Amino acid sequence: MPANPSPSPPGTPDGYMSDNSLPDEHNANGTPSPDAAENERSGARPNGTKTRPENALFSFQEERTLQSIESMKLAHGGHDPIAVTPHTTPRARANTVRGGAPPGLELTPMITEKVEPTTEEHPIMPSVQIGSYTSIGGMMEKAAPKEKGSEEVEEEEQETFITPELLSLYESFSRCLDLRDKYMGSSLQRLGDNPEHYDGHFTPLPSGLCDVNGLRPDAKLPSDYPLHSPTEPGPGPPAEGSNLPHPWHLYPKPPPPHWHWHPKEGPSGMNGAPPEEEEFDFAKCEIPEEHEWTFEMDDKGVYQVYGNDEKQKPLCRVPDIREYFIDLDALLTVMTDGPAKSFAFRRLRYLSSKWTMYTLLNEYTETADMKRVPHRDFYNLRKVDTHVHHSSSMNQKHLLRFIKSKMKRTPNDVVIFRDGRELTLAQVFESLNLTAYDLSIDTLDMHAHQDTFHRFDKFNLKYNPIGESRLREIFMKTDNYIKGRYLAELTKELMTDLEQSKYQNCEWRISIYGRSPDEWDKLAKWVINNKLYSHNVRWLIQVPRLYDIYKGSGLMSNFQQILENLFRPLYEVTKNPRTHPELHVFLQRVVGIDSVDDESKPERRIYRKYPYPRVWDTKQNPPYSYWLYYIYANLCALNQWRKVRGFNTFVLRPHCGEAGDPDHLASAFLLAHSISHGILLRKVPVLQYLFYLKQIGLAMSPLSNNALFLTYERNPFPEYFKTGLNVSLSTDDPLQFHFTKEPLLEEYSVAAHIYKFSQASLAELARNSVVQSGFEMQIKRHWIGHQWYLPGALGNDINKTNVPNIRLQYRHDTLMEELGMLAQGRKARVVGKEQDGPIHPVTADTVAAKAMSMPSSGAGGRR
Ligand SMILES: [Zn+2]
Repeated sequence: MPANPSPSPPGTPDGYMSDNSLPDEHNANGTPSPDAAENERSGARPNGTKTRPENALFSFQEERTLQSIESMKLAHGGHDPIAVTPHTTPRARANTVRGGAPPGLELTPMITEKVEPTTEEHPIMPSVQIGSYTSIGGMMEKAAPKEKGSEEVEEEEQETFITPELLSLYESFSRCLDLRDKYMGSSLQRLGDNPEHYDGHFTPLPSGLCDVNGLRPDAKLPSDYPLHSPTEPGPGPPAEGSNLPHPWHLYPKPPPPHWHWHPKEGPSGMNGAPPEEEEFDFAKCEIPEEHEWTFEMDDKGVYQVYGNDEKQKPLCRVPDIREYFIDLDALLTVMTDGPAKSFAFRRLRYLSSKWTMYTLLNEYTETADMKRVPHRDFYNLRKVDTHVHHSSSMNQKHLLRFIKSKMKRTPNDVVIFRDGRELTLAQVFESLNLTAYDLSIDTLDMHAHQDTFHRFDKFNLKYNPIGESRLREIFMKTDNYIKGRYLAELTKELMTDLEQSKYQNCEWRISIYGRSPDEWDKLAKWVINNKLYSHNVRWLIQVPRLYDIYKGSGLMSNFQQILENLFRPLYEVTKNPRTHPELHVFLQRVVGIDSVDDESKPERRIYRKYPYPRVWDTKQNPPYSYWLYYIYANLCALNQWRKVRGFNTFVLRPHCGEAGDPDHLASAFLLAHSISHGILLRKVPVLQYLFYLKQIGLAMSPLSNNALFLTYERNPFPEYFKTGLNVSLSTDDPLQFHFTKEPLLEEYSVAAHIYKFSQASLAELARNSVVQSGFEMQIKRHWIGHQWYLPGALGNDINKTNVPNIRLQYRHDTLMEELGMLAQGRKARVVGKEQDGPIHPVTADTVAAKAMSMPSSGAGGRR
């Protein structure tokens, strides 16, 4: 171990004086004084401090690497860490400097000279100063001695050395990215597509520049786009203009910027809610009138919207199933192509190593940046649980307490109708041979730790308290004999808990099965009548893929009936909200559609060509790719219509890549806004790389995976994070997996322990969760910054997110490097002769695509 102790250990006032004298040498603007600049250019440190690793944490090898990296950095000048962050308090300043980086790790990259020849490559490179970070690539470039004109030489070299193989790789990856863009475009899932994005402050961007999580990283921001500096206290007055959509009205209105929790029912005679708090009142909701357009399901099983005059021609273009399977096949071809796999694998390895390098260099700077932010820390960062099922969102202790209190207080509630007679709660427990006193967490037996690994069937049974479906029916269903009253009460308690915590938010999944057309109205009435509104909660609708069960029980004859039950009410309420007023109001809090079930069920291929839904009448469940397409396709016209009407649109955020066939992930890549799980991406480098390039959100739940499919230490979550995938942490099923009242914090806590995440990484994860979530623009703006949708440091407000600017800038630069590489491949000249196309592997979906691309076949199958 290195044994050269620091003469003035960091942390002492002495160390501060001698080692970190930079602040003295910089003026208040953060620009180096002439003297300091002189020193930096000549490579010498002020006060003669030498560069030496003095931290015993590093082994000899690491130390040597650090030393050489650092000497490279030293060649590039200095920086004043204090001047970077606005809103610095004297106390925070003192903190930072005292805890500053050990000498040798204090980074000194450029500020003024940093503007590399990257201006064109990074069209939206912010003018915001980004702290001590300089891209590693740039750093290496700088470090290498360069002669005059070397840049041209370099460019020439890049062109010269592109082999046809590499070029075709670049092209196939670019084609895959374009395919996704096409599907996102026609389903309106991107920034600016949803009327709720227009909150009066959001200035619209051309839709070609937007992606699902904000501005495209490679887009050029229009030069006249108004930029809002994070140092300003708030955004200016609402943007005006006749062509701007009407600002989205959030009802009940969100709490004021600074608020404290108050109990809803205050002490006797007093209304506890503060005056500014608006309580939900259905009577106050405005229900718009009927719209003139009409809708109808076409013979391919997709709802289409028609104008008045021409009934024959649908108003919206929806990619049909044939087109989808051909595109999917193109993607699968790339996915299974040998060279593409190796290429993606190498890029991913590179990205991960680059991250390691970045942290080694910048960890101390990041910590210093975070310490300078007053007030903000991990606990008061906004976090969204991006993936949690409502019926298991309480923990067991909570459910147990609730059941016991019901048995004690209202044993005579009539709760269920079984075998021709009504039963009270007391009678139900009598029939189970149980008393309130007997009940414990152990008898409840809902924890999934021991016996559910690779047994999703067993896991599903864990939803039944004490293994009794009767209790699940009574306590955990929205549509039962007591009209979901118990579950509503439980939900209210959960909402109160969330509101008390203030910074934790949820996107609850709740089921619509597609068994009957009145499910939507029942669910909406349950929410509205019980006033299940909370500032901390939004809803997603989960659709279980259970066609085979309904078919088996004779409930329906073909797959199209499910689609009709799922979507007809949504089209009806969009045409005329007055036909389903509750549903119209409830949908304002619904952000998207999810698709759920056990992915590990085998999918047998029974058709050469997939038939349309009206002729899908076998007992087999359609495969994942088919289910997902039909949910997607029916959202397309719906979203376009809703946008025209000024109603909020929905995104597709399915469960995907938890188990089963990795091909599911290919479908999601094309169709989904973001996904839950995605652990199987670790086995498919091409898709993982594509998910990275498109920054598709992954709501991951390592604790849930640990109980079901993948042990905690093998979970790819930390690796994805290093690589730069857009990951967030979520709980999935607190009832089965978590022990505490704050399951989301538990999830963060375990991840921080096992994967050793730094505070900056936790902050980045929290920020990711907000970005991925479906909370309204107005809310996100308040939580993570006024222009959070701009990439890199430009969109960051460290005072709200606590994520160091250098971190986001690193992520952005790295992504730009990859995108730039692929784009450059397109432009490059081909050297060498043409290659044969890749060989098509035979997969289930290739067969389908082949069959469907045959002329005159259509996809009608057996007609
Ligand atoms: Zn889940």
